[in-house]
Amino acid sequence: MKIILLGAPGAGKGTVARLLTETDGSVQISTGDILRASVREGTELGKQARGYMDRGELVPDSLIMGIMKIRLQEEDCKKGFILDGFPRTIPQAVELEKILETLGIKLDFVVNLEVPREVILDRLTTRRTCLSPECQEIYNVKSNPPTTDDKCKKCGSPVMQRDDETEEAIIRRLSTYTQKTSPLIGFYQREGILKNFVSLDSKETVGKIREALNKDR
Ligand code: AMP
Repeated sequence: MKIILLGAPGAGKGTVARLLTETDGSVQISTGDILRASVREGTELGKQARGYMDRGELVPDSLIMGIMKIRLQEEDCKKGFILDGFPRTIPQAVELEKILETLGIKLDFVVNLEVPREVILDRLTTRRTCLSPECQEIYNVKSNPPTTDDKCKKCGSPVMQRDDETEEAIIRRLSTYTQKTSPLIGFYQREGILKNFVSLDSKETVGKIREALNKDR
């Protein structure tokens, strides 16, 4: 499959993308994960991106496009990909169209995950993430907590709140989403490739996305 996942922070893009990769070996490409890895490793990209990320702002388009131009041409993308958190602005979407055209790649469709704002706020403030870069299992202190000493149940690494999941950063991220990213819904609707999914349960949503993929084939 070749799809883009749209949705506010906390809409469940990461979880849905991971479950979808199990369908057919398509690779999940999360610009947020790529950037967090660069910050951890202290690369030049990480140094440039960190301030924006901690404040809950978007990293400049030029940095993101530099990463994605290369990433989309890597071998593992040939089987298919799920773009999680990219594009995030109209200029990124326009640039992506050009890249895909050059590479001769056609998207199946764009998935928009619709989740009520109060659900999103509750999810983001209660979300915890495994610090291991290989694992990154997502927990929820209310519905799916880590071990009592805050360790990952899968790999034993510490489980923490992300730096951009403080209340202040969350409010900033949601407002950035409304201003910069939500216009992409109209953009892809006009192109006739948008599919909306009301998503409260990731597994159910993945089932519906798979059905839509099969129908379109
Ligand atoms: P995410 O994990 O997708 O919520 O991304 C975490 C943070 O990384 C965002 O709040 C942005 O600061 C940055 N980021 C991720 N993807 C993008 C993108 N496509 N464009 C700009 N900034 C991004």
